[in-house]
Amino acid sequence: MNIVLFGKPGAGKGTQAPKIAESLGVPTLATGNVLRAAVQKGTPLGLEAKAFMDRGDLVPDSVILGIMRDELSKPEYARGVVLDGVVRTIPQAEGMRDALASLGRKLDAVVSLDIPNDEIVKRMSSRTVCGTCQTPFTGRNVGERCDNCGGTLQRRKDDEPDAVRNRLKVYDAQTAPVLDWYRRDGVKLAEVDAVGSVDDVTSRVMRALER
Ligand code: AMP
Repeated sequence: MNIVLFGKPGAGKGTQAPKIAESLGVPTLATGNVLRAAVQKGTPLGLEAKAFMDRGDLVPDSVILGIMRDELSKPEYARGVVLDGVVRTIPQAEGMRDALASLGRKLDAVVSLDIPNDEIVKRMSSRTVCGTCQTPFTGRNVGERCDNCGGTLQRRKDDEPDAVRNRLKVYDAQTAPVLDWYRRDGVKLAEVDAVGSVDDVTSRVMRALER
């Protein structure tokens, strides 16, 4: 199954993606994680992306389309993938459709995690992320150890209030219209209430996918 996970920053995409992927028996792919790893290593991709990411702006479509094509052709994604935050503009939605088609595949569903802005601001202000495996945590402190890999928890620069405000604006302007594009495209769209415990939200997503 090829699934796009969609939602505002802080909706819980990074938390839900591995859980949904595990239930479906496929891996996840998150462009945010690919980009953060490149920034940390100081590769040309990371150098190009860093300023956009720090401001909370979108990285240019050409960069994301390149990552999409490179990653999707890897054998580990051949049986399907949960795409976390990979499609954030209409050109990216078109690029994803074309990249999958060139591999003889198609998108099976789009899952939209729905959440009000005041809940997002609350979540972002208490979010840390593992500097090694990128797992996000809520309510854990900078410097603590990651439950997954033992890495050190850090604060994301783009979780500071100014960058969060900008990311929400960018979402409304560039990413929200992608949902209408998918509605017109006829792909199965599951809109799920993302407020609640992590396990409850995962159950809602899995039920919506089965419908
Ligand atoms: P995320 O970890 O998904 O919140 O992504 C962090 C940042 O990486 C975003 O605020 C963007 O700057 C950049 N980014 C990640 N995925 C994309 C994408 N599909 N299109 C454009 N920029 C992206």
